[in-house]
Amino acid sequence: MNCPNCGHGEAAAIGPYIGSHEIFRRMSLSCCERCELVFAQPQPSPAELADYYDHYWDGEVAVSTPSTRRYYLAQSLSRVDYLKRFGILDATPSVLDVGAGLGLFHDGLARRGVAHDYIAVETDRDQFDGLRRRFGEAGAFRRLEDVPAERRFDLLVLSHVLEHMDQPHAFVGGLMQRLRPGGLLFVEVPHRDYRYKSLFESHLLFFNANSLGDLLGRHGKVLDVSTVGKEAAKLYVAHVHRSRIPCAHSRS
Ligand SMILES: [Zn+2]
Repeated sequence: MNCPNCGHGEAAAIGPYIGSHEIFRRMSLSCCERCELVFAQPQPSPAELADYYDHYWDGEVAVSTPSTRRYYLAQSLSRVDYLKRFGILDATPSVLDVGAGLGLFHDGLARRGVAHDYIAVETDRDQFDGLRRRFGEAGAFRRLEDVPAERRFDLLVLSHVLEHMDQPHAFVGGLMQRLRPGGLLFVEVPHRDYRYKSLFESHLLFFNANSLGDLLGRHGKVLDVSTVGKEAAKLYVAHVHRSRIPCAHSRS
Protein backbone atom coordinates (compact mmCIF):
# COMPACT_ATOMS: atom_id res chain seq x y z
CA MET A 1 0.00 0.00 0.00
CA ASN A 2 1.33 3.43 -0.93
CA CYS A 3 1.38 6.26 1.59
CA PRO A 4 -2.20 7.61 2.04
CA ASN A 5 -0.76 11.13 2.12
CA CYS A 6 2.01 11.51 -0.44
CA GLY A 7 1.59 8.29 -2.43
CA HIS A 8 5.19 7.24 -1.93
CA GLY A 9 5.74 3.51 -2.25
CA GLU A 10 8.57 3.01 0.22
CA ALA A 11 7.59 2.55 3.87
CA ALA A 12 9.44 1.13 6.85
CA ALA A 13 7.71 -1.50 8.99
CA ILE A 14 6.93 -0.25 12.51
CA GLY A 15 5.13 -3.27 14.00
CA PRO A 16 1.70 -4.81 14.47
CA TYR A 17 -1.46 -2.72 14.87
CA ILE A 18 -3.24 -3.17 18.18
CA GLY A 19 -7.03 -3.14 17.80
CA SER A 20 -9.86 -5.02 19.49
CA HIS A 21 -12.78 -4.64 17.05
CA GLU A 22 -12.62 -7.18 14.26
CA ILE A 23 -12.22 -4.59 11.50
CA PHE A 24 -9.01 -3.31 13.12
CA ARG A 25 -7.30 -6.66 13.41
CA ARG A 26 -4.82 -8.10 10.96
CA MET A 27 -3.26 -4.69 10.27
CA SER A 28 0.29 -3.50 10.71
CA LEU A 29 1.94 -0.07 10.96
CA SER A 30 4.30 1.40 8.38
CA CYS A 31 6.15 4.73 8.22
CA CYS A 32 6.36 6.54 4.89
CA GLU A 33 10.00 7.19 4.08
CA ARG A 34 9.17 10.46 2.33
CA CYS A 35 6.57 12.35 4.44
CA GLU A 36 6.97 10.39 7.74
CA LEU A 37 3.28 9.55 8.03
CA VAL A 38 2.72 6.34 9.98
CA PHE A 39 -0.27 4.44 8.65
CA ALA A 40 -2.16 1.21 9.26
CA GLN A 41 -2.57 -1.32 6.50
CA PRO A 42 -4.45 -3.06 5.02
CA GLN A 43 -7.26 -0.66 5.91
CA PRO A 44 -10.87 -1.61 6.71
CA SER A 45 -13.34 -1.15 3.87
CA PRO A 46 -15.38 2.09 3.69
CA ALA A 47 -18.54 0.11 4.54
CA GLU A 48 -16.91 -1.40 7.62
CA LEU A 49 -15.74 2.02 8.80
CA ALA A 50 -19.14 3.64 8.21
CA ASP A 51 -20.86 0.95 10.25
CA TYR A 52 -18.28 1.26 13.01
CA TYR A 53 -18.70 5.05 13.31
CA ASP A 54 -22.47 4.81 13.52
CA HIS A 55 -21.92 3.76 17.11
CA TYR A 56 -18.46 5.07 17.78
CA TRP A 57 -19.27 6.65 21.13
CA ASP A 58 -20.97 3.56 22.53
CA GLY A 59 -17.67 2.22 23.85
CA GLU A 60 -15.09 3.72 26.12
CA VAL A 61 -15.15 7.00 24.25
CA ALA A 62 -18.65 7.54 25.60
CA VAL A 63 -17.36 8.45 29.04
CA SER A 64 -19.26 11.62 29.86
CA THR A 65 -18.98 12.29 33.55
CA PRO A 66 -18.78 15.81 35.02
CA SER A 67 -15.00 15.47 35.33
CA THR A 68 -14.48 14.29 31.74
CA ARG A 69 -16.72 17.09 30.50
CA ARG A 70 -14.59 19.59 32.40
CA TYR A 71 -11.52 18.05 30.80
CA TYR A 72 -12.99 18.24 27.30
CA LEU A 73 -14.13 21.81 27.90
CA ALA A 74 -10.62 22.76 29.03
CA GLN A 75 -9.29 21.32 25.77
CA SER A 76 -11.87 23.32 23.87
CA LEU A 77 -10.89 26.53 25.65
CA SER A 78 -7.24 25.94 24.77
CA ARG A 79 -8.21 25.58 21.10
CA VAL A 80 -10.21 28.81 21.19
CA ASP A 81 -7.31 30.62 22.84
CA TYR A 82 -4.92 29.29 20.21
CA LEU A 83 -7.18 30.43 17.36
CA LYS A 84 -7.41 34.01 18.68
CA ARG A 85 -3.98 34.81 17.27
CA PHE A 86 -5.25 34.40 13.69
CA GLY A 87 -7.99 37.01 14.05
CA ILE A 88 -10.60 34.61 12.72
CA LEU A 89 -12.70 34.92 15.88
CA ASP A 90 -12.96 38.71 15.79
CA ALA A 91 -16.01 39.18 13.56
CA THR A 92 -18.74 36.67 14.48
CA PRO A 93 -17.36 33.74 12.51
CA SER A 94 -19.52 31.01 11.05
CA VAL A 95 -18.13 27.74 12.40
CA LEU A 96 -18.47 24.20 11.06
CA ASP A 97 -17.36 21.66 13.67
CA VAL A 98 -16.84 18.26 12.05
CA GLY A 99 -16.74 15.39 14.53
CA ALA A 100 -18.29 17.68 17.10
CA GLY A 101 -18.93 15.06 19.81
CA LEU A 102 -20.66 16.87 22.65
CA GLY A 103 -20.45 20.25 20.89
CA LEU A 104 -17.92 21.58 23.35
CA PHE A 105 -16.11 23.76 20.84
CA HIS A 106 -19.29 25.83 20.81
CA ASP A 107 -19.16 25.97 24.60
CA GLY A 108 -15.52 27.05 24.51
CA LEU A 109 -16.36 29.93 22.18
CA ALA A 110 -19.32 30.92 24.34
CA ARG A 111 -17.23 30.74 27.51
CA ARG A 112 -14.68 33.09 25.93
CA GLY A 113 -17.43 35.47 24.82
CA VAL A 114 -16.89 34.85 21.11
CA ALA A 115 -20.09 35.53 19.18
CA HIS A 116 -20.47 32.97 16.39
CA ASP A 117 -22.76 30.86 14.25
CA TYR A 118 -22.28 27.17 14.85
CA ILE A 119 -23.08 24.02 12.92
CA ALA A 120 -22.07 20.59 14.20
CA VAL A 121 -21.48 17.44 12.17
CA GLU A 122 -21.35 14.14 14.05
CA THR A 123 -21.69 10.61 12.64
CA ASP A 124 -22.45 8.87 15.92
CA ARG A 125 -26.20 8.48 16.33
CA ASP A 126 -26.44 9.16 20.06
CA GLN A 127 -24.14 12.16 19.98
CA PHE A 128 -25.98 13.48 16.96
CA ASP A 129 -29.32 13.20 18.77
CA GLY A 130 -27.86 15.25 21.62
CA LEU A 131 -26.52 17.87 19.23
CA ARG A 132 -29.89 18.14 17.51
CA ARG A 133 -31.54 18.77 20.85
CA ARG A 134 -29.01 21.49 21.63
CA PHE A 135 -28.66 23.21 18.28
CA GLY A 136 -31.83 22.31 16.38
CA GLU A 137 -32.40 20.89 12.92
CA ALA A 138 -30.44 23.63 11.19
CA GLY A 139 -27.54 23.36 13.63
CA ALA A 140 -26.56 19.68 13.58
CA PHE A 141 -26.09 17.11 10.81
CA ARG A 142 -24.91 13.54 10.69
CA ARG A 143 -22.85 13.86 7.54
CA LEU A 144 -20.92 16.66 5.88
CA GLU A 145 -22.98 16.11 2.73
CA ASP A 146 -26.15 16.87 4.72
CA VAL A 147 -25.04 20.44 5.49
CA PRO A 148 -26.83 22.71 2.98
CA ALA A 149 -24.63 22.82 -0.13
CA GLU A 150 -24.63 26.61 -0.35
CA ARG A 151 -23.26 27.13 3.16
CA ARG A 152 -19.70 28.41 3.47
CA PHE A 153 -17.82 28.94 6.72
CA ASP A 154 -15.14 31.19 8.18
CA LEU A 155 -13.78 28.46 10.41
CA LEU A 156 -13.71 24.70 9.92
CA VAL A 157 -12.86 22.69 13.01
CA LEU A 158 -11.44 19.18 12.62
CA SER A 159 -10.40 18.11 16.05
CA HIS A 160 -9.23 14.53 16.49
CA VAL A 161 -10.88 13.40 13.27
CA LEU A 162 -8.20 13.26 10.58
CA GLU A 163 -6.35 10.39 12.23
CA HIS A 164 -9.43 8.21 11.67
CA MET A 165 -9.51 8.76 7.92
CA ASP A 166 -8.71 6.11 5.32
CA GLN A 167 -8.78 8.71 2.50
CA PRO A 168 -7.45 11.91 4.09
CA HIS A 169 -7.09 13.93 0.87
CA ALA A 170 -10.60 13.18 -0.35
CA PHE A 171 -11.92 14.16 3.06
CA VAL A 172 -9.93 17.40 3.49
CA GLY A 173 -10.58 18.33 -0.15
CA GLY A 174 -14.33 17.98 0.37
CA LEU A 175 -14.15 19.96 3.57
CA MET A 176 -12.20 22.80 1.97
CA GLN A 177 -15.08 23.31 -0.48
CA ARG A 178 -17.00 24.63 2.52
CA LEU A 179 -14.42 27.28 3.40
CA ARG A 180 -14.96 30.92 2.54
CA PRO A 181 -12.06 32.76 0.89
CA GLY A 182 -9.82 33.94 3.71
CA GLY A 183 -11.27 31.34 6.06
CA LEU A 184 -9.35 28.98 8.29
CA LEU A 185 -9.23 25.21 8.72
CA PHE A 186 -8.17 24.19 12.23
CA VAL A 187 -6.90 20.63 12.58
CA GLU A 188 -5.86 18.91 15.77
CA VAL A 189 -4.53 15.35 15.83
CA PRO A 190 -2.64 13.23 18.37
CA HIS A 191 1.13 13.21 17.95
CA ARG A 192 2.05 9.66 16.90
CA ASP A 193 -0.03 8.17 19.69
CA TYR A 194 0.80 4.56 18.77
CA ARG A 195 3.98 5.08 20.79
CA TYR A 196 2.20 5.21 24.11
CA LYS A 197 -1.22 3.62 23.66
CA SER A 198 -2.08 0.01 24.41
CA LEU A 199 -4.96 0.18 21.91
CA PHE A 200 -4.56 2.03 18.59
CA GLU A 201 -8.17 1.62 17.46
CA SER A 202 -9.72 3.43 15.71
CA HIS A 203 -6.84 5.57 14.42
CA LEU A 204 -5.52 4.71 10.97
CA LEU A 205 -3.05 7.59 10.55
CA PHE A 206 -0.39 8.74 13.01
CA PHE A 207 0.98 12.19 12.33
CA ASN A 208 3.99 14.17 13.31
CA ALA A 209 4.47 17.85 12.44
CA ASN A 210 6.08 16.97 9.12
CA SER A 211 3.40 14.65 7.80
CA LEU A 212 0.54 16.86 9.01
CA GLY A 213 2.06 19.98 7.44
CA ASP A 214 2.74 18.06 4.23
CA LEU A 215 -0.84 16.81 4.00
CA LEU A 216 -2.48 20.18 4.73
CA GLY A 217 -0.06 22.03 2.46
CA ARG A 218 -1.58 20.17 -0.47
CA HIS A 219 -4.90 21.92 0.19
CA GLY A 220 -3.89 25.47 1.06
CA LYS A 221 -1.40 27.71 2.80
CA VAL A 222 -0.32 26.29 6.15
CA LEU A 223 -0.14 29.09 8.73
CA ASP A 224 1.20 27.08 11.64
CA VAL A 225 1.98 23.54 12.73
CA SER A 226 2.77 23.24 16.42
CA THR A 227 2.64 20.76 19.25
CA VAL A 228 0.95 21.38 22.57
CA GLY A 229 1.40 19.79 25.95
CA LYS A 230 4.04 17.39 27.08
CA GLU A 231 5.08 14.30 25.20
CA ALA A 232 2.52 11.84 26.50
CA ALA A 233 5.00 9.03 26.08
CA LYS A 234 6.98 10.53 28.91
CA LEU A 235 4.09 11.07 31.29
CA TYR A 236 3.27 8.66 34.04
CA VAL A 237 -0.29 8.34 35.28
CA ALA A 238 -0.87 7.11 38.79
CA HIS A 239 -4.22 5.56 39.66
CA VAL A 240 -4.93 6.39 43.26
CA HIS A 241 -7.70 4.54 45.03
CA ARG A 242 -9.04 5.47 48.41
CA SER A 243 -8.22 2.65 50.73
CA ARG A 244 -11.10 1.26 52.75
CA ILE A 245 -11.10 2.26 56.36
CA PRO A 246 -10.95 -0.78 58.69
CA CYS A 247 -14.38 -1.76 59.97
CA ALA A 248 -14.68 -0.11 63.41
CA HIS A 249 -15.38 3.42 62.19
CA SER A 250 -16.48 2.70 58.71
CA ARG A 251 -20.07 3.36 57.66
CA SER A 252 -19.66 1.84 54.24
ZN1 LIG B 1 4.09 9.80 2.61
